[in-house]
Amino acid sequence: MEKTTRSFGHSPDIKIELMCTGVRYSEALGRAAGHAMPNYYPYRFKAGEPDPTGKGIARIPYLINLPDGTMIRVLGNGDSPWHVAGDVERGYQLCDDRTGRALPMEFEPLRPWMQGKTTDGLPYAQAGVTTHSDMLVVNVAPGCEYFLHKHDGVSMRCAFCAYGAPDERTAHLGQVRGRVDIPAPTLARLKEAMAAVLTDTHVRHLYLVGGSLTDGEAEARRFLQLAQAVRQRTAARMPTSLGSGALPDEWIAEFRRQDLVEFVCFNLEVWSEPLFAKVCPGKNRYVGYERWIQALETAVGHFGPGRVYTAMVAGIELEPEHGLSADEAAATALEGAQDLCRRGIIPIYSLHWPTGGRERPDYHERLRTYFEKLSAGYQQLRARLGLRIHDDFMCHRCAYMQLECDIDRAALRPAA
Ligand code: SF4
Repeated sequence: MEKTTRSFGHSPDIKIELMCTGVRYSEALGRAAGHAMPNYYPYRFKAGEPDPTGKGIARIPYLINLPDGTMIRVLGNGDSPWHVAGDVERGYQLCDDRTGRALPMEFEPLRPWMQGKTTDGLPYAQAGVTTHSDMLVVNVAPGCEYFLHKHDGVSMRCAFCAYGAPDERTAHLGQVRGRVDIPAPTLARLKEAMAAVLTDTHVRHLYLVGGSLTDGEAEARRFLQLAQAVRQRTAARMPTSLGSGALPDEWIAEFRRQDLVEFVCFNLEVWSEPLFAKVCPGKNRYVGYERWIQALETAVGHFGPGRVYTAMVAGIELEPEHGLSADEAAATALEGAQDLCRRGIIPIYSLHWPTGGRERPDYHERLRTYFEKLSAGYQQLRARLGLRIHDDFMCHRCAYMQLECDIDRAALRPAA
């Protein structure tokens, strides 16, 4: 396996380290959970790892900010050489046991809106909004119908997905099985929640997402209703991305005609039809691989080059059942990047930790080799084609599991 050693610049190098190896628990990390934006997943102590909580799990923060605004998701890993020291008064440091270096950092804070409620008493945090620094993500219908269906004993949900079906977990949003439209009270609460977010958070990007429906027209209608509501209810126009599944062509045209969004991001997730069929059986069955790419091309035709994106789950190719080495997985992903970019579609790679193969001693090294190789190859491709991630779509302040914005930004800055 060829190992890449390329440096992408100071902050991207730190970010890639933490993305691929995570951070070990420390008391400072645990204490920070009291004032930082909370992580969706608790820290899970490994067998034999010192556990000062005595509980096996601990609450930890969600996001780290480096001084230049670089954002990194906190991933707990008891084997990591990195830990966090310090406190909120004197400041935090990221410490590397191997070299002894300590780098200044902060945690994304728990903002006041996160503890507020709508006038009818629903916590804003449950009203369908969340933030990653300057990106506001709107998701008022997170339940995904693919979780409701099985074919030949195979669930139609995507293999990596942590969402769920429309069920009691989505009932507070008025999302129930079989209902396409978003209820008026849900949109009223969303309006209040968005107003609260915008009072204490500097937001530069809006991203509309949600679970999928098996009927593409119905999904399009729901997203159209959402985009209209968001546009009407946001006083200042903000760059907005349509993060639905791949929609029928006439509906893509309708979003453009009504001038509701500036960007489109239909997530293909993985390159190559056989991998797509295995990783995203629902998308493959209800939309289809070729049709997904065609829909993205249709969007390029309406919105123009540089405005159509597709998120990819980088690392899922390393799951043992796919049988790919790190080099083969990176080569497959890069082949996809080349093909998509040629069509005017810009992929964005979000790092995924494969669940299988964790017992392999080279687990983290494989992931890192793959991700470095992919990131370096994709940077060269973007440079060759003169492509950049549009700063209104995503930037280094909100890309918490993606590297493209960080790498391109570092490449543009003069060396220190
Ligand atoms: S379509 Fe989206 S929400 Fe549904 S299973 Fe796949 S990733 Fe999850």
